[in-house]
Amino acid sequence: MKSTSYDLCIVGAGISGLSAATFARALCPDLELFILEQADRPGGAIASYSDGGYLAEWGAHGFLDNCAESRELIRLAGLEKEVVTAPLAEFVRYLCLNGRLECIPQKPLAVVRRPLISWGAKLRVLADVWKRPLKGEPSVSDWVAHRFGAALLPFADAVFTGTYAGDIERLRIDAVMPGVRETERRHGSVIRGMLAKMRTAGREKRAKRGLPSMISFNGGMAALPRCLAENLTGMIGYRTSVQEVIRQPDGWLVHSNRGRLHCRKLLLALPVNTSLQLLDAALPVMPPPISAIPEARILSVLLGFDSRAEIPHGFGYLAPETEQRFTLGALFSSHMFPGRAPAGCQLVEALVGGRRHPERLHLGDDELIDAVYHDLSQLMELTPPVYSAVLRPSSGIPQLEHGYTGLLRWRQSVHTTHADLRCCGFGWRGIGINDMIREARQSVAALVDEGRAEQSPEVKKIYF
Ligand SMILES: Cc1cc2nc3c(=O)[nH]c(=O)nc-3n(C[C@H](O)[C@H](O)[C@H](O)COP(=O)(O)OP(=O)(O)OC[C@H]3O[C@@H](n4cnc5c(N)ncnc54)[C@H](O)[C@@H]3O)c2cc1C
Repeated sequence: MKSTSYDLCIVGAGISGLSAATFARALCPDLELFILEQADRPGGAIASYSDGGYLAEWGAHGFLDNCAESRELIRLAGLEKEVVTAPLAEFVRYLCLNGRLECIPQKPLAVVRRPLISWGAKLRVLADVWKRPLKGEPSVSDWVAHRFGAALLPFADAVFTGTYAGDIERLRIDAVMPGVRETERRHGSVIRGMLAKMRTAGREKRAKRGLPSMISFNGGMAALPRCLAENLTGMIGYRTSVQEVIRQPDGWLVHSNRGRLHCRKLLLALPVNTSLQLLDAALPVMPPPISAIPEARILSVLLGFDSRAEIPHGFGYLAPETEQRFTLGALFSSHMFPGRAPAGCQLVEALVGGRRHPERLHLGDDELIDAVYHDLSQLMELTPPVYSAVLRPSSGIPQLEHGYTGLLRWRQSVHTTHADLRCCGFGWRGIGINDMIREARQSVAALVDEGRAEQSPEVKKIYF
């Protein structure tokens, strides 16, 4: 640390902290900023794995290119030429239904058109138009069953298994899809809200938009935090674990294992639970309504196959809980992005565990590889794997369950009371990389452009 006093300190050099620092420098090149990071590398939950010609991910495998802030970040990182894409229009996703893989259209309305559910269930979807909004903080499963009927639950389950590794009976619809819930409240029905939006947007604009692409980078997802961190050389203190933040009349004191520093403005770019620990001690007069939120852990079983294995063309598949399978789903990684397997080979990354099956995380590597291979070979024509490995990421995935919306209101009151403090990061308003980058951008704008209004939640599109 060059100085002990900064304009802005950012705690955490995951994608949230690195995005915030990059946007802050773009907005105010003279800003004195410093990032404190407890690990010895940037990226947090984003890290790539490379072994014997296979390239896999410990955490995120990619994100959609439909977020302006993320596109801006890639440009600022100088990574535009390293982007690799898998267009949703070309790469289908499969759902495991009744023990077999069914190709799923990328739009919920197209699901209704396919012969995947009965005619009675299709008509029930339209009943959304007459259903009153559910009061309180309903779970995703209660809300989907109420609005569209129970036949759509396996599809909803797959969507939230794929994103949160979560349990739709515990995830709250207001937390995971605030924009859709707002549409429901405003128009009295999701379908009516969507029709109104389509009328306003106009046909031409819709036609242009099309389906987004999943993106990653040559060399894997770790390229993004690595390039961002290289552009911030000298501004990141690694192996610096923040233990306490203390309110001062003119800013904040930040205590770490490397000493203490003062900053005028503070950004905690950390997973929700880590921020809560620091804030609980720093703001004794405004304790958070809950001290922690649940996290779900998953592990990846990597299986490499030679070209004889018949892995369907597409992104991969997801298995709803009703199918009672060992594997939550799998990514057909070498189909999605080039260079993920040696020549003549294919890579599948299978996900195990999640909110419903934490006990499976304790199994040994051999047992996991056998169980996943057995599971997958019932769904596709496989030959014995030529490569296998088990990755056990340390990051948990925050679960936006009961009490989460109260926590968000509390964060809002903290931001209002302390204009020189912002919290963003894993689990605050979403869990995806685009959510992180968007919130980092907004947090920096609020800190640099004091008091800038928070934006209302967007209506996120559902892609399988
Ligand atoms: C297994 C898994 C799969 C995922 N897959 C996808 C996907 O396919 N697509 C997608 O969009 N998203 C995915 N995500 C989510 C995505 O990875 C996260 O949204 C994102 O990485 C969170 O970034 P962050 O910077 O907010 O938090 P983190 O990545 O957790 O970074 C926080 C940083 O803060 C540091 N830190 C913590 N405590 C302290 C302290 N006291 N002092 C100093 N530093 C500290 C940590 O070391 C870390 O570097 C996945 C996540 C996981 C775990």
